[in-house]
Amino acid sequence: MDWNLEHTYTRLPGQFFCRIDPVPVASPQMVLLNRGVAEELGLDPDRLRQPEGAWVLSGNQREPSSQPIAQAYAGHQFGHFAMLGDGRAHLLGEYRTPDGRRVDIQLKGSGPTPFSRRGDGRAALGPMLREYLIGEAMHGLGIPTTRALAVVATGERVFREQALPGAVLSRVAASHIRVGTFAYAAALDSGLDLAVHAPHGADDPSPEAAAQDGAGLTRALADYTIDRHYPELAEGPDRYMELFNAVMERQVDLVAQWMRVGFIHGVMNTDNMTLSGETIDYGPCAFMDQYDPATVFSSIDRQGRYAFGNQAKIAQWNLARLLETLLPLLHDEPETALARAQEAIGRFPALFTERWHAVMRTKLGLGNTEPGDAALIADLLQWMQDQGADYTNTFRELAGEAGAATPGQLNPAFADPGLAAWHARWRERLGRQDGGIDAAVHRMRNANPAVIPRNHQVEQALDAAVREGDLDPTLRLLEVLANPYDTGLDTSDYRHPPGPEQRGYQTFCGT
Ligand code: AMP
Ligand code: MG
Repeated sequence: MDWNLEHTYTRLPGQFFCRIDPVPVASPQMVLLNRGVAEELGLDPDRLRQPEGAWVLSGNQREPSSQPIAQAYAGHQFGHFAMLGDGRAHLLGEYRTPDGRRVDIQLKGSGPTPFSRRGDGRAALGPMLREYLIGEAMHGLGIPTTRALAVVATGERVFREQALPGAVLSRVAASHIRVGTFAYAAALDSGLDLAVHAPHGADDPSPEAAAQDGAGLTRALADYTIDRHYPELAEGPDRYMELFNAVMERQVDLVAQWMRVGFIHGVMNTDNMTLSGETIDYGPCAFMDQYDPATVFSSIDRQGRYAFGNQAKIAQWNLARLLETLLPLLHDEPETALARAQEAIGRFPALFTERWHAVMRTKLGLGNTEPGDAALIADLLQWMQDQGADYTNTFRELAGEAGAATPGQLNPAFADPGLAAWHARWRERLGRQDGGIDAAVHRMRNANPAVIPRNHQVEQALDAAVREGDLDPTLRLLEVLANPYDTGLDTSDYRHPPGPEQRGYQTFCGT
């Protein structure tokens, strides 16, 4: 097995990483191999299914071109700055896909590093299967995301509240550059001693970068990020401002897409926000059933900081942290730099509202813009919230209705006097646009998934896998989620909202 991995990240100054090998595990066994991802990478899935595959993807055997590192980063966790870094992950290297993209291949749960703090460097099987499953669901939904190549059981136990089977996830990502990586660079540039003196080794001198103008590390990281994700900005005279604007655009789009499908990330700390615009780090994430912007599933999010309806605000907060790190690069005069930054972040609310409205218009089948659209959207959402209507099913039912043989027919689910007036307005609105009902239905079917990974079903599937070694429910769920809009499969089992006994679902960070 030779992946010809490259290692551009290690050309950054040595403070950004530390060379460290995965720690072998007792007995690697392939649990799930992602055929789709393997094929996209041009790797032979049948080869990866051989014992050698499990050895390489658990870290027991070194792929010849890999040069494992743990990446250093910091971040704001629930608003508080902290030094973090890969405490249980090893970046094996960067892989060139057949279509020319450069992606990171990283192992997660592959052993302790200098950044582990009190952690054991390991991961449990359930949460790694969960990351695999939700990543695939997001991919199927058309939302930028990191993806799992495989989950390999370690044959070892990890100790959380109880003893659990251990696993290593292999993750494919456009990169692992986080807002928190910039926070780390800027903190070092400003002279903060972040205490983790990782053994980056004599072969990684950190040359001139740190010197320069007190922004050497940040500049090196920003240049690297531009080169890797925004090469079109490389020659621009104002490229760091443009980098920020480009990242903001991608994050605005990403959060608007999350809102389209009811996704709640659950732990939008700045170390869990990428510069590439991919969703990353599926911990306590979940999908909303009944519409309520205050929905929170994570047991540790007691204040609702990362509630469904708060995600845009948090994205803006995180982006402000990114922008702060870039201040020295925006202008030589600190006051001018600050004014420019304020102007830039000040564009966030309007930008987000515009993108979110665009998303919601497609959910309602609208193909053009009218002044009354914002109210049309807001009124439906208010009704859904008052009724406790299911976010996913309501839009699919509306789509069914838009296509009903008898136009204007009211689904009994909507025979609510409070909605009748809204319904008439919406029907009229659909009638005023080009393409009429057919175009609207087409739009709605592509914007509104029929199936999402319902929390109670995800839990059931993972439970069967972890407790009984039965992967069938997980495999079936994966099959259905691969094509969540117009599935040819019988998906009726996957479309039920949780019953009353399945509500009150909580997710836990003890991953
Ligand atoms: P996360 O909540 O997965 O975004 O992780 C936050 C930080 O905790 C990162 O620095 C992780 O590397 C670290 N971390 C999480 N779990 C472990 C673990 N079991 N051992 C060591 N570090 C961990
Ligand atoms: Mg994280």
